[in-house]
Amino acid sequence: MTIFEAYNHTKQTLEKAGIEDVVFEAKQIIRHVTGLTNAQILTRYTNPLTPYQQNMLTAILRQREIRYPLQYIFGEWSFCGNDFEVGPGVLCPRPDTEVLVEHALRFLKGREQPAVLDLCAGSGCIGISIAKAVPDAQVTLVEKFEVTKRYLDRNIRRNGVQNATAVLGDVLEQAAAEDRYDLIVSNPPYIPEGEMATVSPETKFEPEAALLGGQDGLDFFRVIIDRYTQSLKPDGMLAFEVGFGESGAVQALLENAGFGDIGTTKDYNGVERVVFAKK
Ligand code: GLN
Repeated sequence: MTIFEAYNHTKQTLEKAGIEDVVFEAKQIIRHVTGLTNAQILTRYTNPLTPYQQNMLTAILRQREIRYPLQYIFGEWSFCGNDFEVGPGVLCPRPDTEVLVEHALRFLKGREQPAVLDLCAGSGCIGISIAKAVPDAQVTLVEKFEVTKRYLDRNIRRNGVQNATAVLGDVLEQAAAEDRYDLIVSNPPYIPEGEMATVSPETKFEPEAALLGGQDGLDFFRVIIDRYTQSLKPDGMLAFEVGFGESGAVQALLENAGFGDIGTTKDYNGVERVVFAKK
């Protein structure tokens, strides 16, 4: 089977499995299997796959057919241009979340040695990307589950950041709340209970604890606003990723808690994805 044939076979298999973005995924898979760049693939598309590569492709497609997340299959995923180890027990980094990082970086510009807190950190993609982009920042990442925190620890090492610290702790118990921060960011679980059944087949493989935000999806926003507002410096910013349609409700929670300068940012699909406010 040539690279070109493998690419077409991959696209067809993904299409049959009901996967949407088959061109993007097929390219990722062929790159992963061959170890070639896009440009190299274009000039070598008549090269045959080795038996090893062909086996690897078959194994990948078997897993994708049952909609096992591509991120878990690869074991790593790129987010904000950085690589993160991912797998069962950790929420996959999503492009929508990059908007939160971009907004955080705009806010941090010009602040000296800012202290940053990332709550419900998961893989650590948000806090680590901030730590990497702002070398004089001190970033604390809080994660509740040990299995998830192991990814977080490895991702800190993998990205070579000296200015990020992982803490095992629960936001319900105000982990790491004793310090004062310039910025608190969080992509907490926010899917309402009633919508859990309708998440994508891939998301069903991801930890429920990273997704379910209580009956109306807003539990963690309430808790974080309630327990961490006092951990912000004056003029500090709180910035959340929110679920589809939740922006208004989260803004109202912030307003009721006395926050000002409340605003939102849209993701790449035009959904109001980030809600931020200043103390
Ligand atoms: N964006 C994720 C999804 O819709 C949810 C992540 C979260 O709850 N923070 O699948």
